[in-house]
This record gives sequence, structure tokens and C-alpha cells, in this order.
Amino acid sequence: MAEKHVYRFGVDENGNNVTEVAGKTVNEAKWITGGKGANLAEMANIGLPVPPGFSITCQTCVAYSSAGNVWPEGVLDEIDEYRRNLERRMGKKIGDADDPLLVSVRSGAPFSMPGMMDTVLNLGLNDESVLGLIKKTNNERFGWDSYRRFIQMFSNVVMGVDGQLFEDAINEKKAERGVRLDTDLTAEDLKGLTETFKGIFAKNVDSQAHPEVAPGGQASFPQDPLLQLRLAEQAVFGSWNTERAVLYRKQNKIDDSLGTAVNVQVMVFGNMGDTSATGVAFTRNPADGTNERYGDFLVNAQGEDVVAGIRNTEPISDLPKVKGLEQAGRDLYHVFEILEDHYADMMDLEFTIQEGKLWMLQTRVGKRTALSALKVAMQMVEEGRISKEQAILRVAPDQLDQLLHPQFDPKATYDVVAKGMNASPGAAVGAVVFSSDAAVHYQHIEKPCILVRWETTPDDLKGMVAAEGILTSHGGKTSHAAVIARGMGAPCVCGAEALKIDADKKEVTISGTGVTLHEGDIISINGTTGDIIVGEVPLTRPELTGDLETMLEWADDVRHDASRGRIFGVRTNADNPEDAQLSVDFGAEGIGLDRTEHMFLGERKQIIQSFILADTDGQKQQALGQLLKAQTGDFEGMFKAMDGRAVIVRLLDPPLHEFLDDPRELAVEIAHAEGRGENETQIAAMRERLARLDSFQEANPMLGLRGCRLGIVYPELNDMQVRAIAGAAAKLRKLGLDPKPEIMVPLISTVEELKLVREQIEKVVGSIEEAEGVELSIPIGCMIELPRAAVTADEIGRYADFFSFGTNDLTQTTFGFSRDDVESAFIPQYLAKKILKANPFETLDPGVAKLVETGVKGGHAANDTIVCGVCGETGGDPDSIQMYYDIGLDYVSCSPYRVPIARLAGAQAKIRSNGGPRKLA
Ligand code: PEP
Ligand code: MG
Repeated sequence: MAEKHVYRFGVDENGNNVTEVAGKTVNEAKWITGGKGANLAEMANIGLPVPPGFSITCQTCVAYSSAGNVWPEGVLDEIDEYRRNLERRMGKKIGDADDPLLVSVRSGAPFSMPGMMDTVLNLGLNDESVLGLIKKTNNERFGWDSYRRFIQMFSNVVMGVDGQLFEDAINEKKAERGVRLDTDLTAEDLKGLTETFKGIFAKNVDSQAHPEVAPGGQASFPQDPLLQLRLAEQAVFGSWNTERAVLYRKQNKIDDSLGTAVNVQVMVFGNMGDTSATGVAFTRNPADGTNERYGDFLVNAQGEDVVAGIRNTEPISDLPKVKGLEQAGRDLYHVFEILEDHYADMMDLEFTIQEGKLWMLQTRVGKRTALSALKVAMQMVEEGRISKEQAILRVAPDQLDQLLHPQFDPKATYDVVAKGMNASPGAAVGAVVFSSDAAVHYQHIEKPCILVRWETTPDDLKGMVAAEGILTSHGGKTSHAAVIARGMGAPCVCGAEALKIDADKKEVTISGTGVTLHEGDIISINGTTGDIIVGEVPLTRPELTGDLETMLEWADDVRHDASRGRIFGVRTNADNPEDAQLSVDFGAEGIGLDRTEHMFLGERKQIIQSFILADTDGQKQQALGQLLKAQTGDFEGMFKAMDGRAVIVRLLDPPLHEFLDDPRELAVEIAHAEGRGENETQIAAMRERLARLDSFQEANPMLGLRGCRLGIVYPELNDMQVRAIAGAAAKLRKLGLDPKPEIMVPLISTVEELKLVREQIEKVVGSIEEAEGVELSIPIGCMIELPRAAVTADEIGRYADFFSFGTNDLTQTTFGFSRDDVESAFIPQYLAKKILKANPFETLDPGVAKLVETGVKGGHAANDTIVCGVCGETGGDPDSIQMYYDIGLDYVSCSPYRVPIARLAGAQAKIRSNGGPRKLA
């Protein structure tokens, strides 16, 4: 069968459902007709009032874009056929002079990208059909308002004319008429505006670039409705590749190759008078999860007015109180229930009421904050809608980061200077900035900032990402700022009307307070309460309590359930007792990596320096003695904090020059001393020290004398460290505690290295056991962070009780580039050019994954009790965690703040890889 490019949806004039499904379920269909198209079809199928229309598939978009914006053969005929069919069913024609059919043209990708792509409403109006519309509706104001909106949107969205030009013209008209609101403009005013708008079009559309709208060489607003339709469809396809859409996909890890669908749908009008309205709503509160109807509406308005925040909206709870909208309001509340029953999730929806009748224009699973995601998932389990395992899959692990983000310190006192809506929870402190460019600049200079705007638009995405928090003076809880901030997990306070912002002057005045702030002044915002404070409020990290704690306990039950897949652990990377305690509080089950070199910082650096640069054996021994004492104390602290839990201590890893001073600085000092003619003997001593420092420099330190090689060249270093570990464990054991150290050898490349170092470790541990009269049974293992180690793991495994995959080094040595050198230099380009799908230092690369898999298999072949884990950065990344589970690792280890994320991601990985969630019985 030839590929189908167009699908029909909705109910026709007689209330008959005419939907053609693109897949058995919404989730199947969304890949073809996009999320919006698939859900419109689904709503029609469950009997909800959906205006009819058709979706042109995402695959058509992909074919169109990859052919250089050329329609695939036959598609235009297919679209025409669906358009004619729609006209036949509605008994109206697009552009008809007497009774025109008007349509909306909207984008709709498989994943929602709010506000990122294009929408055109009221398409089909021209100088003639507007008169037909007026005659038919007997509503002159409505006719001209619809036409001016269409010219405005079409010019901006399809032809790229600056939208501000139209806003300026509206404001001028309002000033001229002495009115405040758009709704105060009369039919005559709006008619005048359509002429002004057509003039703006003619002046600003480049006739050379758009010959299709400039038949005589001069651009003029296109009067042919079929041309309008074609251009709008093309614009929607084109909007898939705009800079902001590409950035949004990158942020949200959405595949660039999916494409968007185009939905052409019969218009219904929320601007036909006081019994018409339009709104956006959620079936529960997307900010905090409260089970309440949430959203905004506007009487006598079109959809974009609500989202654009141009007029201040009314809360959805007031809808049935509005005269003439009582029944539609009740109908809408009933739709909330039907949608939740059907989707078993919190939904967001867009609706329009045309002369008292409710129409559904969109629904989708509602985007929500982590707080809300947790609460709604818990409620839905309690309500018997979903199982615990389904609930676990409902929360995106990375989102939990929001809850681990700072809040105002409960002990802090402060004055609230103004309040807005609590649109996205969490607190932020930073310098006031008034533009996205300024926010990006502040990010570059590493100064936290708060983006303060009248309202944000999709063009502000860069600035919103760069800022710590977002504050707007306008727009409701479903405004662009609120929706995007919640999606990103950034604190947001919106609609703070007391703020009078002058972005040109870079200042904001707070009405009634006498306060004026300038760019760079520090403010604090609390997105959980809506509070705005001048100056800095101290922030604290919250604890794991309430819904988060419960959800993580459910996740732990899944990870630990041996009856359904392997037990999958979560450990942490920590190298001091405070971090160890923090990670236990966050639920870590052990320490997967204690980088001992981090214990050699501060004043300890002097001691290790004197070891490295010692002239005599005596000096060396003295330094080692000091280190032994210090390290024994460190390990006691660590083992105590982790009592009863495994602590993998890694022997010294970095190249020694990292502990030494920079020889270049000393060389400069010598040159100065020489210039000043200082004492020759002193200068000679300095030169000698320089020669020593130079002798530790390496051209390629990452590939030099480091890792296990250090302990082989300087066995006394290993002896000292093992003595400290075993000594601390013996002491605590005798005090009745349960220390569980494990010793890890870094950067092994051949089995012989491990064999040698293992013998050395065993000897020292044995001597301590004998001297202290305790049995310590310390497992000994190694890191697998070199390709050679991974491919010879079947040999290395014979001498290892455990393997820990160090994907930081393994990635560097597999790719042959170092993180420090390339991450800002060319990884972004590689991502843009799609040479790499993801940054391999953040998400496990498939090639590196193959080495890990080889290593795990080799390890198991050599030693069937070997324990395998990962301690590179990717150990805390949810996508990588899925891969690690599938490869067969026993645990992941990550930084303390990622532990809760890994607990949830680990459970999700296990559920997905063991047949999906258990459904409700
Ligand atoms: C690794 O290489 O992945 C690792 C954990 O070691 P480090 O980052 O300390 O080199
Ligand atoms: Mg390493």
C-alpha cells in the first residue's frame, strides 16, 4: 500500500466521529500524526467534542525537509483531497465569499514542544470572505478582529515579519482612541487595523525572497486561501528547524529526526462575544500536584491571548460562574474527569467555547514539576488508577534534581517586597537582568542571575536556561514563562503586577514601595510561594521527606527485589566523612569510589610534596609517617560514617606533578630574582628545585606515570595507604563497629600489574591483621578504565574480587581525546553536526558500552563471584543507568546529589528490562 501522508480526525457537523487512526494506541499514533494530532483523534474517539480536521504526518515533514523543502510526490494531491472532503462535510469552502470555512494550522511533534513551533489561526480570510463571515455571524467586530489577527499571525509566523510592528500599531490605535484594552477597540478600529497590517506586510515582506506573494513584483497580503494554506503548512514544517526549536530539542533530548505533523482544523471561535471564551487548563495542579482544577480562561478571546499573557486571565474555577458560560463550564469539568479516567494521568488541555458550546482543541499528558509529578503519581496509586511500578515510571529521574535544589533557609528572616504567582517551585538568588543576552553573559562570567521580563517568548529560551530563576510581571500560571520554567525545573514567579519593568532603561520599579532595581542588583525569588525579596536570602538544601521519600522507597523495593531481575545497587563517590554522611542521608548503599588523592589537598599537599621531592630516605620516611597518620584518621572518619556499608578506597591515581607547584611560576620567580641581582646561592637552590619539578613534567600526563604504575614505581606509597586503610578498619573493628573497606587499584592495563599490586596489598593487610589480632577480609579489586583492561578482563578477573568501570578514563582513552581539552573546544560542534548523539562524558557512548560489556563478561568468565560496578560520571546519568543495568552491572556509583536520581533511574531501568511495569491487578 502506498504510504499514507494524511489522517482525518474529529466530529463532523452532524456529530459523527470521522476519525482515522494512525496507530492502535495514542502512543503508536503520535509517531505518525504527532502528539497533538494523535490526541485529537483519541479525544474524538472517546466522544469528546473535537472540531474536525486532518493531520499531515511527521514523516512527510522529514521527507519535505530532507529534500530541501520540497513536497514528496503525490502528497499535495492527497492533502487537497482531504481539504475538499473537509469542505464537503462542513458544507463550506475555505475562502468562500459568502460563508467561508476558516481553519487553524498548527504544528504537533511526537513530543510536545510548547510554544516552540508555529500556529496560524483564522486561515481562509481575505478581503472578500471577511465580509461573508460578518454577514454570516452578523458580528462586524468579530469579523474584523479575526481578519486582523490572521494577517498579524500569518505575517509573523509564515513570512517572518517582526510581531512587534503589529503590537505597536495596536497600541497606537488604542492610544488614538483613548482606550486601555484590545477588547475596547470597535469594529471600525479593527477594520482600520487590517489595512494598517496589510501595509506592514507590504513594507516588510521581501518580494524577492517571497515571489509567491509578490505577483507584480510588490509584496501584498495573499488573497488566495489555498496559497495561504500551502504557505502555512510549509511554515509549520520549516519551524521544526528554527534555532529555538533545535535548542529546545537539545535541552529535552528530543531526536531531531522525528519531524512535526501539521494539523489543519476547522476554527471555532472564543472571540464571538460574551458567551464565547478560550482557555488552557490542567486536570490537577502541575506546580505542586494538588488535586484541583488548574488553569486560566479569557472571555471573548482567541487561544493565543491566554498563552501570550497579553490580557490578565481568570482562574478556571470561576468559569461556571460567568453568565452564559455555566453549562460549558460544567461540561468542561466533566471532560476533566473523562480525560483522567481514560488516560489515567494528569492531563493538560486547551478548549474554546463558541457561543456557549464547548470544543476541545488539545490534550496531552501535562508537563509538571518534580513536586507535582511525585504527588500526582502517589494520588493515582491511592485512587487505584495505576500500580506502584507505573507510578515509578511517571517521574523523570533528572527532574528530582529540582527538589534537591535550594530553598530559602527556613531560619532566614526577610521582607517580601512584592508577590507574584508561584509558577515553578524552588528558590533562586541572583543579579537582576532584563534580557536573555544579559542572562547568557552573566552565565559566562559565572554570576547567578534572575531573568526579569514583562513576559517571556520562545526567543527567551537561551536566557531562561542561563538564569537561575525567572520573574515576570505579566501572564498567568500557564503563560510561556511558567510552562517552560516548570519543564526546566527553574524557579519561576510570574504575573507580579507590582513590577514596572523598563527593559530599555534596564530598571524595574516596584509599585507602592519606592524600590527601583537596576541590572546587577541582587534579588531572591521563591517559586514555591511567589515571594520576591530585594537582596540575598540564604538558601538551603531540602531533605528527602514526604512523597519523594516514599517514591524512593518504592524504587528501592524494586531494585532490591531479587525475584524480578538482578539486585541493582546505588553507591556514591565520596572522599570525606561529610559527603559520606550526606550520601547516606540520600540513600547511598556504600561508597563506590573514594579518590584518596582528594585527601592530599590543603596542608597535606606540603607533606606529599616533601615525599616526592625528598633528598634522603629519612625525609621520605618522615613524610610517609605523617601521611600515614593523616590518612588513618581520614579512613576512620569515612568507615564510621559508612558503618556496615562497603567503602571502596582507590589507591593513589593522579600523576605526581599534580601535587607539585607549577614549574613555570618558579621559572618566572627565578628570572625576577636574577633581574634583581639576588643572592647566587639562593638562586642556585631555586634552579635545582626547578630541575626537580621539571623532571616530573610529562608531555601526556594522562597517559604517563599514574594509576597503578605509581604504586609499582613507589611501592612505599601503596604500603602506606594500605596500612592506613587496614589500620583504621582494625581499630574500629575492635571498638565493635563494622567497617567494610575494599581496596581498588586504578588504571590497570595488564593482569601482571594487578597480580603484583595484589600481592603487595595482601602482605600489608596480613601484617596488620597479625599485629592487631583481627581478621579483616578486605576485598581487592581494580578499576577497568583502559581499553586493554576491558578486553583482557578474563585474565585480570582472576586477581580481582571486583571491577569498577571508570568511564571517565575509559571514554578518554577509547576516543583518544581528553575531557578537559575537548568538552568546550569541539564537543558542541560534534553534537551540532551529529557526529556524536550525546556528550560521551555525560551519557555512556555505545562504543564505550561495548568495552564495558566485554569487561563484565570477561570478569564473570574468570571469577563467578566478581562484583561489577561503575564509578565514572555516567554512573549518575539516567540513560546510562539503563544501559548499565542491561549490560549486567551490580551497581552504579555517582556523586552524592545524584544518588536519589540514580535510585529512581535504577528502579526504572529494572522495570523496563523485566517486562515493563506490573499493571494494577
Ligand atoms: C574514571 O576514570 O571514570 C574514574 C572514576 O576515575 P577518575 O575520574 O578519578 O580518573
Ligand atoms: Mg580514572
